[in-house]
Amino acid sequence: MGSGQVTSSEPFDFQGKHVTVAGLGVSGVPAAKVLHGLGASVTVVNDGADERARAQAAELEALGVTVRLGDGDTLPEGSELIVTAPGWQPDKPLFAAAEQAGVPVWGDVELAWRLRGPDAAPWLAVTGTNGKTTTVQMLASILRAAGLRTAAVGNIGVSLLDAVLGEEQYDVLAVELSSYQLHWAPSLRAHSAAVLNLAPDHLDWHGSMEAYAADKGRIYEGNSVACVYNVDATDKPSTEDLVRAADVEEGCRAVGFTLGTPAPSQLGVVEGILVDRAFVEDRQKNAQELAEVADVNPPAPHNIANALAAAALARAYGVPARAVRDGLRAFTPDAHRIAHVADVDGVAYVDDSKATNTHAAQASLAAYEPIVWIAGGLAKGATFDELVAASAKRLRGVVLIGADRALIREALARHAPQVPVVDLERTDTGAMRAAVREARKLAQAGDTVLLAPACASMDMFANYNKRGDAFADAVRELGSADG
Ligand code: ADP
Repeated sequence: MGSGQVTSSEPFDFQGKHVTVAGLGVSGVPAAKVLHGLGASVTVVNDGADERARAQAAELEALGVTVRLGDGDTLPEGSELIVTAPGWQPDKPLFAAAEQAGVPVWGDVELAWRLRGPDAAPWLAVTGTNGKTTTVQMLASILRAAGLRTAAVGNIGVSLLDAVLGEEQYDVLAVELSSYQLHWAPSLRAHSAAVLNLAPDHLDWHGSMEAYAADKGRIYEGNSVACVYNVDATDKPSTEDLVRAADVEEGCRAVGFTLGTPAPSQLGVVEGILVDRAFVEDRQKNAQELAEVADVNPPAPHNIANALAAAALARAYGVPARAVRDGLRAFTPDAHRIAHVADVDGVAYVDDSKATNTHAAQASLAAYEPIVWIAGGLAKGATFDELVAASAKRLRGVVLIGADRALIREALARHAPQVPVVDLERTDTGAMRAAVREARKLAQAGDTVLLAPACASMDMFANYNKRGDAFADAVRELGSADG
């Protein structure tokens, strides 16, 4: 951490302070408005000066905020604090200048944390490489089932600033945090927090796996009741290592979740039942039944892990077992996350377009067998050997699409040479339709055709939603052609 970072959470008086907001956009514009409203003298700096930036600048300038477009690197004179968009990379010259001048840097989460009122709702926080959104939504559903006023907020579409400053009163918040947000949130202290898993991702931003893990691990700092970690993950460092490294409040417990039988102080699975051996009287001898595996939607192994993590955080907050079951039953996953689209000729078609990295795709592939796998897109520097080697025996066939498909094809040749591969060169709008037709030819009754691309979508689609929609449309066409 830079020497200029503020780590105490003393109240901060913004009146008359010169605050630089780094970056317009979804976090910068509301932050600038709030800070201006608190009496700060606000300057927004932004790298780009496109039409959207100019429109946002005009809106802020009308309020009396200064906006500098086209230079996000120079520290405005007299700055006493920078509030940055979470995505701004730590090695930007602006931050080097801030460190040299002893100017603290906060992200959007730090700002929201500092602006909470005296009786603010505690935060139950979730991070991880994959499964964050799902887990936070499951958690909110469980808390709601317990009759608590709550919301799923953070890196999930609902801004923390709105949740903290809005009219709505909450008992407790279910907060999704990205590694970027955690990097810029030095004084955050959650009630309890979970790191779901840790696989290499965004390493260009963080600089190294160690730095990425350290930023994720920050979520445990200062926890007061429970640090929830993944017992089964083989990642290094492990999420348990991150708990050990954290400085927590006296009495805060390390609580593991596992797909196996739980040891004391863990949640796990016994004969199809989710059980709690952490938040029970006499955990050496007792366990509490929470829900059935069939209550988890969908009951894929990685999603049961998400449910256990959500349950652990809810139980840390004191939620009764019944609410865990009811909340899990009431939960429906967001679109494009292992969504069952249709069965055609006895073959299931599943859309996991949100599997945009190899770690996510591996979890998805582990949930089905045999699979005709549709994969490919933008690899973002990933390698595919581990994924293909781990999944080879489940594959009936593979259809490759997108810019970096050669990387997957080569990994398949190395680790699954017997598996038939259709390499689709097309990248036009009809490419997904062609991919689904090819997959159908490879599939047999009882198989699953799984879109789990392990890649980003932007080479062919506007985003992963559009990619999933194209898949679902193509599958429906198959179905109606039959009928
Ligand atoms: P995030 O918010 O972290 O991106 P999501 O809940 O949106 O996570 O899930 C993204 C994708 O990651 C899913 O479509 C699925 O493929 C995969 N996934 C979900 N949970 C897990 C998990 N616990 N471990 C590995 N992969 C997961």
